[in-house]
Order: sequence, then C-alpha cells, then structure tokens
Amino acid sequence: MKIIREINKMKTYARIMRKENKLIGFVPTMGYFHEGHLGLIKTARKQSDIVITSIFVNPIQFGPKEDFKKYPHDTKRDEELAKTCGVDVIFYPRKKDMYPDGFSTYVNVEGLTGNLCGKSRPSHFRGVTTVVMKLFEIIKPDIAYFGQKDAQQVFVIKKMVEDLNMDITMKIMPIAREEDGLAMSSRNVYLTKDERKDATLLCKALKMAEELINCGERNPKKIIKRMRNLILESQSARIDYISIVDTKSLKEVDTLRDEVLIALAAFIGKTRLIDNAILNVKETEKAYECEKSQKR
Ligand code: AMP
Repeated sequence: MKIIREINKMKTYARIMRKENKLIGFVPTMGYFHEGHLGLIKTARKQSDIVITSIFVNPIQFGPKEDFKKYPHDTKRDEELAKTCGVDVIFYPRKKDMYPDGFSTYVNVEGLTGNLCGKSRPSHFRGVTTVVMKLFEIIKPDIAYFGQKDAQQVFVIKKMVEDLNMDITMKIMPIAREEDGLAMSSRNVYLTKDERKDATLLCKALKMAEELINCGERNPKKIIKRMRNLILESQSARIDYISIVDTKSLKEVDTLRDEVLIALAAFIGKTRLIDNAILNVKETEKAYECEKSQKR
C-alpha cells in the first residue's frame, strides 16, 4: 500500500493507472475508520482495479464553533485497516497544499443545500463540494463511493457531478450500524456512556416513523411529532431538525406519497449526530395490501 501526500505525485500515479486502463475506485474520507468507511472500501476493492482512499479533515466544511480542531484521528490504525481491506493508495493531502494562501475558488450547489443540515451548517456543503471537486480533479476516478449515512451530501455531490458533466459513476452504500442500531460515525467516540445509550433513540425514532407509515400514517407533521417526543425522552438530546422530504427536490412534503427521505440531526450532549431512512411509500402500500390480501 502506497502513502501519497503530494498532490502532484497523486496526479501522476492516477495518470499512469489510467494509461494502463485500470479502473480507479475512490473513497474520500476524513479518517478514523469504522465499518461504514470499510464497507465503502471493500466494495471499491471488488469493483475496481485500483482503490484510492483519501484521508483529509477538510477545514472549510466546519463552522467556526464546530469540532475541526478535535476531530478524532488514529493514522496508524487507519493505515492498518486500509491495508487489510486491500487499499492501494492512501492519499493524505496537506492543508497548506489544498488551500494555499490566496485560495478563492469554491463550488456551490444551489437549491439542495439550503435546508436540512445546510440550515444549521450554512457553509458546510460549499466546503464539501469544493474539496470533493478538488479530489476528483486530482484523482479523476472512474467510480466514487459515498455512504447513505450523509444523505444530503449524496444528493448534493450527485447534482454537482451531473451539472458539471463529470465522468464519474457514483456508488452509494447503505448505512452501517452498530448492533443496537446506532449509525456508525467517527464522532460516536465523543459520547459518554450514558449519551451512547441515549443516542440509540435516533434510529429508534426512524424505525418508529417507518412503522407509523407502514400502518398507514401519511401526515408528516404527526410522524415528526412522535419522533420528536421519543428523542426528547432523553435529557441529553437537543433536536436540530427532523424533516420528511421528497427525494428529488429535498423539499418538505405535505403528505406522504412517493419516495421520501426521513432525515434528522440531534445533539446528544455536545455531539451532533445525523441519521436517516429512505422509504418508498408506494411500495409500503403494495406490501401492506399484499399482507392484507394474504390474511383474507
Ligand atoms: P467521513 O469520514 O465521515 O467524511 O465519511 C467518509 C464516507 O464514509 C462518506 O461517504 C460517508 O457517508 C461514509 N460513511 C460514514 N459513516 C457511514 C456509515 N455509518 N455507513 C455508511 N457510510 C458511512
């Protein structure tokens, strides 16, 4: 496994691989690997000739009061895990090379970035699309792997790739969860023992929403209220948002009809966690009808 820090070296390596007709799979990350990251890497390993993962804690996607300075890291462990999963290259660009003095160009996807996480983290997605665009430009991968855990990020990056006619196939992997359902996140390490228990309320609230929908509830306000009440059973929880949005526009829906994204963000203590579920209401209805007719 190669470790590359210089942007030019990364470009050269990727160029040589392309010349040799190698299919390049790319997994951008901020490191501190867990099974969510490794799932992306393992899929990339199966589907590509060359697997490149980047580890870069991107300063411009953090707000001034966020955890950029204390974002967890364990380089040695990440390198061992990456090696075990068959990564060919870890790319660790340096902050000063990614954003040299005078850096002034940003990529902004309009429309999809104003609500959900974009509301409480106003410059977050601009930071994400800018760094992903730069990494895509440096590596020029054939396939890029992202996790459904960051649902809005997936929509925003897909839109950027489409709008800018980029020749990259996006592959989205399902949310990796702990045994008790908590979505895996590098930030889970911040949680105290009690907060860790409380954090499971987030996925429980999503499960409850799914059950309500399966039982025929179509009013998003009622579903959100029930989710809110469940999460606020914990003293340590503060809800940032719970939203049910259309999966095409990311706009809130008045009634549940087609495919919806149920997304939430909440602080458990000082740690901001996100989780989501995508539900096809029509399929739910079909399954429900089928179940009913089988019982008849
Ligand atoms: P991060 O290091 O948090 O920037 O995440 C790097 C990539 O891993 C992103 O595409 C995330 O969506 C993905 N990822 C993070 N957590 C999970 C998870 N629990 N399940 C699936 N993918 C994840």
